[in-house]
Amino acid sequence: MDNSFQKLEPRYLILRLIFAIAAGFLISAFNLEYIEGYFLDFRINAKAYLGLAKPINPQVALVIINSKTVEKFQSEPKFSDHIRFLNQLTSMKPRTIIYEFRTNEDDFTDINGVYKDKLEFAEQIKSIPNLVFSTQYLKMKGEAEEFKLKAPLDTIKLFSMPFTVDGKSFAKDGVSRRIMYQYQDQSMYQPIIAAYYNPEIQNKDNVRGSFYYLDSYQTYVDYHPKGSFPTYSFEDVVDGKVPKNAFENKVVIVGSDLEKDPDDYVMTPYSRITTAMTKAELQANQIQTLIDNSAPIRAPKPINIAITILISLLTVYVTLSLKPARGLAILGTALITLAVISTFFFVSFGIWFDLAHPFLAIFLCYYFFIPYRLIRENRKSWEYYQKHKLLSEVEELKTNFISMMSHDLKTPIARITGMTEVIYKDPQQLSSHQREALDTIRHSSDDLLKFINAILQYGSIESQGVQLHKQSKDINTLVADVVKKHQFLANVKKIKIIQELEPMFPIGVDPELMKQVFSNLLENAIKYSPDESTVWVRSREEGDNLIVEFQDEGMGIPQVDLPNIFMKFFRTHTVKTTTIKGSGLGLYLAQYFVELHKGKITVDSSQAKGSKFTVSLPLDK
Ligand code: ADP
Repeated sequence: MDNSFQKLEPRYLILRLIFAIAAGFLISAFNLEYIEGYFLDFRINAKAYLGLAKPINPQVALVIINSKTVEKFQSEPKFSDHIRFLNQLTSMKPRTIIYEFRTNEDDFTDINGVYKDKLEFAEQIKSIPNLVFSTQYLKMKGEAEEFKLKAPLDTIKLFSMPFTVDGKSFAKDGVSRRIMYQYQDQSMYQPIIAAYYNPEIQNKDNVRGSFYYLDSYQTYVDYHPKGSFPTYSFEDVVDGKVPKNAFENKVVIVGSDLEKDPDDYVMTPYSRITTAMTKAELQANQIQTLIDNSAPIRAPKPINIAITILISLLTVYVTLSLKPARGLAILGTALITLAVISTFFFVSFGIWFDLAHPFLAIFLCYYFFIPYRLIRENRKSWEYYQKHKLLSEVEELKTNFISMMSHDLKTPIARITGMTEVIYKDPQQLSSHQREALDTIRHSSDDLLKFINAILQYGSIESQGVQLHKQSKDINTLVADVVKKHQFLANVKKIKIIQELEPMFPIGVDPELMKQVFSNLLENAIKYSPDESTVWVRSREEGDNLIVEFQDEGMGIPQVDLPNIFMKFFRTHTVKTTTIKGSGLGLYLAQYFVELHKGKITVDSSQAKGSKFTVSLPLDK
């Protein structure tokens, strides 16, 4: 990773901090209720999915008029049917009966029947004090006119139980999420009936999650999935086919589910189809929420802003300082973690943290800083490229120069060796002193020639690479040749070379290059071993590979140097302090040549015990 990203100057840190805080505040100022609505619904669904959304002991029961009821009565229930229904129902001692029917100003639009029955119905209602009819009508403070139906139905007690639909404000998606429980100091009916079960909520300030909006007090519905409340059909009640204590001390809501009019239904967090939930069931949810006083509480604004700022900080840091893939992974994890934690708080404690703002913070901060980072990195890599270009030009110049030099040195050395041989062969006797000097000249020029050859090979590898000239060869012959060539060197140090060569078939190799590989390894084994030690040279077939091993009892290679040993010009500290000569190119060339044959060269060494170099070549069967 680029270092400048890690070691940040304090002023950059402060700049980022300021940016993140500003972004957090700015993003929090956006109205994202629409998206937040979706996130709230997600959590409500998660709660239902986990099976934690059902009311434990519902105090509300539903009686529903549906298509079966119509079949049974051959029409929608008339006044006469309702009279029988109410007789049955009241005998079962409900706490309250709420008729969730649509009324217009003077009549029901849902109930028909002859006038006589209508009169009787009106009379009957007078005798049921705990029966109310819901209306959407909201009476304003100071309005003298009572909202009443026209005679004879003026005996009916109408009560405001408005539906709040997120149509024009809040999430604006048509979903019912709220309960309006007080308007201009007048209580709606839901808190009145709920207070019977839970007196705590008589005081509006005790209602959980309460907030003020357009002269009203509202809170959010603690939704229970469709079908959570005990539900009976109208005709079963009329026929006395429901359990005896089904309605005892309960709030009974009578409504219809005829799929006739979208006005009978609301959309819910669970579903956005038109007939997602009957109004009667929504009413049940609202009342149960107030009874349990379990409305979700929205986290206070400062906490939501703080979360957004934290997320902005994280995003800015991640975008500018981490590798892109890692950054994305971290941001993704942060998103998921946030969703999981907020769902946990919602499901466990009914606390609702904003998710829309932190999520937007991630996207905005990310897309704001990515181009900035790209520009910076582009500049960096351009600078790096320029530097690299210069370096490789210098490197090439160096290699060319060395090759040229070495080449020019080869001729004088060849001459020195030639002349030395001439003197050796001269019939005139040399003094022992002269012979010693001549030996030294011969060895030094040999060393120099080896060195120059290594450099030349290195130069050709660097400039155009080396071509393989493969022939079918018995590797053992090559090894034996190399051993023979080094026998003299070994004799000087009284080193014993033991050959353990298993017979094998010829394989395709470049004999010159392979001989060079073996030479370098054997020479090292002799060079870096003490006098009178042993060197083993082994060959064998192993699976699909041909193995050649050079093992010595020499000084070994320090553990820390092992990874570098095949690098060009590398020599260990331990040998640099000795008089043993070397270019540091032998192993580099050996590895290069072996890899050219698609083989591998490995080392196994421990200090003071010795080293083992293993060449493994693929057998091309
Ligand atoms: P050099 O010309 O120095 O021998 P090489 O590339 O052949 O260069 O080897 C690199 C270094 O690896 C040597 O300088 C030496 O430190 C170490 N080395 C190689 N072979 C052996 C060995 N058989 N025993 C101990 N050290 C070895």
